[in-house]
Amino acid sequence: MSSVLDQTEFNQQLLSFIQSSPTPFHATHSIATRLSLAGFIELDEAAAWDLKAGKRYFIKRNDSSIIAFVYGKKSLLDTGIRMLGAHTDSPCLKVKPQPELNRKGYLQLGVEVYGGALLAPWFDRDLSLAGRVTYKTTENKIASALIDFKQPVATIPSLAIHLDREANNSRSINAQRDIVPVLLQFGQEQTLTPNFKSILLAQLKKECPHIAATQILDFEISLYDTQAPAFIGLQRDFIASARLDNLLSCVVGLEAILQASDEVSSLLICTDHEEVGSTSCCGAKGPMLQQFLERLIPDTETRIRVIENSLMISADNAHGVHPNFMDRHDENHGPLLNRGPVVKINANQRYATTSETSGFFHLLCEQLQVPVQVFVARTDMGCGSTIGPIVSSEVGVKTIDVGVPTFAMHSIRELAGVADAHYLYQIASAFYQYPSALRFV
Ligand code: ZN
Repeated sequence: MSSVLDQTEFNQQLLSFIQSSPTPFHATHSIATRLSLAGFIELDEAAAWDLKAGKRYFIKRNDSSIIAFVYGKKSLLDTGIRMLGAHTDSPCLKVKPQPELNRKGYLQLGVEVYGGALLAPWFDRDLSLAGRVTYKTTENKIASALIDFKQPVATIPSLAIHLDREANNSRSINAQRDIVPVLLQFGQEQTLTPNFKSILLAQLKKECPHIAATQILDFEISLYDTQAPAFIGLQRDFIASARLDNLLSCVVGLEAILQASDEVSSLLICTDHEEVGSTSCCGAKGPMLQQFLERLIPDTETRIRVIENSLMISADNAHGVHPNFMDRHDENHGPLLNRGPVVKINANQRYATTSETSGFFHLLCEQLQVPVQVFVARTDMGCGSTIGPIVSSEVGVKTIDVGVPTFAMHSIRELAGVADAHYLYQIASAFYQYPSALRFV
C-alpha cells in the first residue's frame, strides 16, 4: 500500500494535531487515540504480554512517551524492524510548584524555562495553560488527568520602548525576572491571592465533571500560545505554528504507521524530554525502547540478530538557511524550505547518520521521486543533537538523522514549508512497507 494522504490532507491533519496537542501529554494522548481507533491494542507495561504476529500494539510511559508496533507476519529475523523516532516535547515555560505572586494587585505565576527556548517571541502573546494534574480521589487514591484551559488566560507584556530606550540595541532577557506572566488583576476589595492548585481543581472539574477529585496533589503545567497554526505567505508556501519541532515528525510517523504493511514489522517511538537531554524513564536515553525489544524478543542472540537487520529513521527538524542570516550555514549545506527533507551529518557523531544509512535514504527518495537535501553545521559553529545518536548508542540499531527544514526553531511560532512534511511522510510510508531486511551488503 502506498501513502494515502495528499499534501493538503496531510497538512490539515498536522495542523489539527498540533492544535490539540499543547503539551507532550496531549501529544501522546492524540497519538494513542488515533492508534486505538485504527485497531492498535494498548499494552499495560505492568501486565504480562502475549504478543502475536499479525497484530498491532502500543504502549505509553509517563503519559508523555509512546511506542507503536506493527508485528508483521514475516519472521523478525528475516525482515528486521523498521523504526522511526521523534520527540513529543518542545521548549516552553513551565509553571513552578508554588507559583503564585501578587504584585501591585496582579496575579502572576512563576515559571521555569523548559529546554532551549527562544524567549523573545513569548512576549505579547495570548497564552493558555495545559498539562497534567495529579489529584486525590474521594477514595483517597492517586490519579492523573490532562487539562487544557484552551482560552487565553495569561500574557507576558513587553516593557514599552519609552521605559528602555536601548531596547532595540541591547535588551537581554532575564528568565527569572522578565518573563513572569500576568493572569488577573485583583478587585479593590480582594486581598486573598488565589491558590494555583485551587484554580487547577476548578478547571479539572469543569473539563471532567465525572472525575471525583478532592485535591490537586501536584501538576506539570506549561504555557502555550493560543494562536492557531496557519498556512501563510502570498502563495501559502509556509506553515506557521508552535511545536513544529518536533510534533511535525510525530505526525509523519503516526500517519505512516497507520498504513504500515502487516507483512513486516514496524515501530514508531515518540519520546519526551529530548529538549533537556532525553535522560528520564520515558526519554530516549532511558530504557523504554530497549525494554520493549527485550519483551518482544526475550532471547538475547535472536534480538541482536533482529536489530542487525533493522534501521531507525530519527526524524527531527533541521535548520533551513535563513535569507537574512545566510552566513550561519556552510555555503554548500544550507537547506531550503520546500525542497525536501534534510539528511543531517556530523563528523563528531552529534548525528548518527552513516554513509550506509544515508545511502539507503537517498535511494528511497530517488525511487519515490522526492527531493532530499543535506545539512552539516559550519565547522566553526557548534551543532545541535537529537534522539538519533542516543537511540543508536543505547540499542545498537543503525540510524539516520533526518528532518524537515525549519525557520525560527525553538520559537513559540516556527515556520516550515508546506511540501516538506508531506515528502517525509511519503518516505516514512515507503519505509514502513520496505519488504526485506535492512542490511546493506
Ligand atoms: Zn527537535
